[in-house]
Amino acid sequence: MNPLYWRDQELTSWTATVLAVGPDGIVLDESAFYPGGGGQPPDLGQLEWDGVYTRIAGVGAAGLEPVEGDPVPPVGARVTARLDDQRRRHLMRTHSALHVVCGVIWRDLGSLVTGSSMEPLTGRLDFDLPVVPEGFKADLERAVNEEIARDRAILTRVVARAEALADPDVMRTAAALIPESVELIRIVDVDGLDRQADSGTHVASTRQIGEVHIAKVESKGRGFRRVRIALLQ
Ligand SMILES: [Zn+2]
Repeated sequence: MNPLYWRDQELTSWTATVLAVGPDGIVLDESAFYPGGGGQPPDLGQLEWDGVYTRIAGVGAAGLEPVEGDPVPPVGARVTARLDDQRRRHLMRTHSALHVVCGVIWRDLGSLVTGSSMEPLTGRLDFDLPVVPEGFKADLERAVNEEIARDRAILTRVVARAEALADPDVMRTAAALIPESVELIRIVDVDGLDRQADSGTHVASTRQIGEVHIAKVESKGRGFRRVRIALLQ
């Protein structure tokens, strides 16, 4: 089943039925917990049933990982699930910010991003750039914040594999990373700036990201650059 955040990225509380409890964790019939991937860490949160709470410490491939020692709901229980919504919101803003940085680096320098990771309100992006131009850090920060101020829409849609792979922007960033078995591909489109295959959660428009600071530009050798960003609270 497609995760609830594919339909509604703002959803942070919902009711669900427990389908299974075991070594793979707690499996719900419907879940908005982001499992991690694409550089974005998993959501945290809690389940509540009959006034009892299970804190969720992580999300595995199959199910939710409870905090050790917390009571676990029985199979069949109806639970109210809640995300740690401030953490999720910060991750959405950070993830969207990284796509804006990615789009600007490609547009202005023609450099491909090769990796990224994030925590709430901080992130890093790796890319190839043999020579770093004079004033790169300040220019990048200015260009990124200009794009944020334009309030570009950030649209998501799910398309068939063939359609996604026919899109040169999607191909450029992800072609090699999408396993053969994946039939539906989610596209995240920062309108007019950056489009890529991505399963993560994003804000609805760039202005919701807030101000982005380029904290550091590092050289990791032979054209390998790393940009670190920080968002204001
Ligand atoms: Zn992404």
